[in-house]
Amino acid sequence: MKPKILVVGSSNTDMIVNVPHIPQAGETALGGEFATAAGGKGANQAVAAARAGGDVTLIACLGGDMFGQRSLEGFARDGIHTQYVARSGQSPSGVALIFVSADGQNSIAVAPGANALLSPARVRRAAGAFHGASALLMQLETPLRTVAEAARLARRHGVPVILNPAPAQDLPDALLRRVWILTPNEGEASALSGVKVRDETGAAKAAAKLRQRGVSAVIITLGARGAFVADAQTHQLVAGFKVKAVDTTAAGDVFNGALAVALGEGQSLLDAARFANAAAAISVTRRGAQPSAPSRREIERLLKL
Ligand code: ADP
Repeated sequence: MKPKILVVGSSNTDMIVNVPHIPQAGETALGGEFATAAGGKGANQAVAAARAGGDVTLIACLGGDMFGQRSLEGFARDGIHTQYVARSGQSPSGVALIFVSADGQNSIAVAPGANALLSPARVRRAAGAFHGASALLMQLETPLRTVAEAARLARRHGVPVILNPAPAQDLPDALLRRVWILTPNEGEASALSGVKVRDETGAAKAAAKLRQRGVSAVIITLGARGAFVADAQTHQLVAGFKVKAVDTTAAGDVFNGALAVALGEGQSLLDAARFANAAAAISVTRRGAQPSAPSRREIERLLKL
């Protein structure tokens, strides 16, 4: 039986232009190739969870345009349940305009569009999706009051909440107390805890601060080094997998999607972090957000090596 994973979050279309360098204000850079790819943290995590072996339901809001249509078709290809993905006639679908320079730097502008219409009322209308869910996975690209409402509903239905606090923003303690596992990267952990996270020692301090604010467990992702896991019993680094990285876009999203599935299967926090490290390591060897998320078979192959 696949674990039921509920994802509340954003869906965007990434529009990517490769440029020799990121253009300054007033400058026009003559770019290379243009590409579009499915993105948005919520949708990325939903796709990663589905490929990692989850039975995934997504609660999201798309525009009535061609981009929204394409996103829906993508979700269907990955077997994601989309009965709670709304289409709005009032707003375009979310879009991210991304410049990638020859030396791998990027610069991104996001137009949230319909993602901003994912309201608490919409989540309440999807309350049926909380029954029997193994985990609720969320991020911060949709309105915070919606995240808070979903966490409240999850508590009422006994569904554990995994919150990936990205992009970073201040979070009320009332929300943190409803979170089972918080999964910031180094920058987000620093911003949320006020402790500079550069290494394991910093990660341990930041995790302790965040746990004091009411979160049960904290997993801080540390790029190629892996992830630092902290709960009442454990404080340790789970080492990352050595791979040749070509594009780290959505590494954190793939980590979170895979983590939710492993935990939903009843794996321990440490085993789930190792599973998530493997999935994310594969994703950094490939370009794009959703195109880079690996299948269950690929993850298991890397875990057995
Ligand atoms: P984000 O993408 O949110 O900034 P990180 O950079 O911490 O998050 O990456 C998330 C996870 O992706 C890491 O915990 C690790 O498992 C994996 N990862 C990221 N970069 C690499 C890399 N160069 N090699 C192997 N794994 C990586």
